[in-house]
Amino acid sequence: MTASNPDGTQDFGVYVHIPFCATRCDYCDFATWTDREHLQDSYVDACVTDLRRRVEEGLFPLASSVFFGGGTPSLLPPEQLMTILGEIPRTSTAEVTVECNPDSINRSGLDIYRAHGVNRLSFGVQSFDEQVLAGLGRTHNPANVERVVADARLAGFDNFNLDLIYGTPGESVDQWLATVNSAIALNPPHLSMYALTVEPGTPMGANVRAGALAPDDDDQATKYELADELLTKAKMPWYEISNWAQVGYECRHNLLHWATGDYLAIGCAAHGHRERSRYWNLRTPERYIAAIAAQESPEAGSEVLDLNAQREEEFVLALRTSTGVSARKVDPEVISACVDAGLIDHISSTDRLVLTRRGRLLATEVTVRLLAGNNAGTRYDGVLTAMGKDRPSV
Ligand code: SF4
Repeated sequence: MTASNPDGTQDFGVYVHIPFCATRCDYCDFATWTDREHLQDSYVDACVTDLRRRVEEGLFPLASSVFFGGGTPSLLPPEQLMTILGEIPRTSTAEVTVECNPDSINRSGLDIYRAHGVNRLSFGVQSFDEQVLAGLGRTHNPANVERVVADARLAGFDNFNLDLIYGTPGESVDQWLATVNSAIALNPPHLSMYALTVEPGTPMGANVRAGALAPDDDDQATKYELADELLTKAKMPWYEISNWAQVGYECRHNLLHWATGDYLAIGCAAHGHRERSRYWNLRTPERYIAAIAAQESPEAGSEVLDLNAQREEEFVLALRTSTGVSARKVDPEVISACVDAGLIDHISSTDRLVLTRRGRLLATEVTVRLLAGNNAGTRYDGVLTAMGKDRPSV
């Protein structure tokens, strides 16, 4: 992983949150709304104003990556989304990603993205099986995925991601394998796969409380292992627990997160990181728009990490990646025990510890064991929150 560019400058990311969706998926607890279309113009204006102010403050290095996430960024008219991008000073080689719902983007929209410097797309696919999609409360037609990938290639995009979800209750192993094989058949440079989690406060959460089937850990573990085997054979090795890519197509914006680099948060509910602190913006679009209009900071809160917490976060995030962590930081007896248990590989050429496939399934437990045997003697209470939650997007 790297946090610096060929010209020696540090990587710097910009995350822009677009909080609008056409419909709400049953499992989703993201900060997104289906009844705020009337706010779209003022929201885009607020993002533009926020960006201009930050540029004027002079605290804005050239961005090496920009990520439009949501919500459904592709729900905004492409010209409007590109108005925001136009305000972001960035390097000539910056990675610019837009999350798209296959139902809400067409060839002309993709052409507009491309003409304005977008060079990476991330499609929320989740499954190629209509029955599974219905179980998730998703509305897109799987046939649209093939169409949109073809359109993306015609528009000149060679870099795109497909998001998949595994472990939907009622999804058989064969249905899951068919989904993974359908994805591989599209030859995507990048795939993200997330275990379905049931969040309280979602329709799926209410259904499970009322007695509907919940995702099953063993079923999800089996599906993870089978998918990892297929992707490895397809020359898409894992590079983070939930991410696989052809060599050279790893997502630079995500790598920046996992390297605890700095990124700016634009838009409601967006999270940012600067030096040793994390911060987050006001949650609703109304409050974000109002704060920007009143020339107030849109930040709702922040948390400064002390040096120990910062080191632990770096350790936790690095362990999630295929680069792993330095073995010098961990008690040799703990390393031996984890190697013997098949949880980590100790790569002798680099002296690094990397999770095995089994270790990836038990990443939280392995992290606790390694941190407990961390030679730096740091504490680990609460640090696992930094691992975040594996989340599917649009
Ligand atoms: S999962 Fe994605 S598309 Fe579905 S409601 Fe949430 S943000 Fe919108």
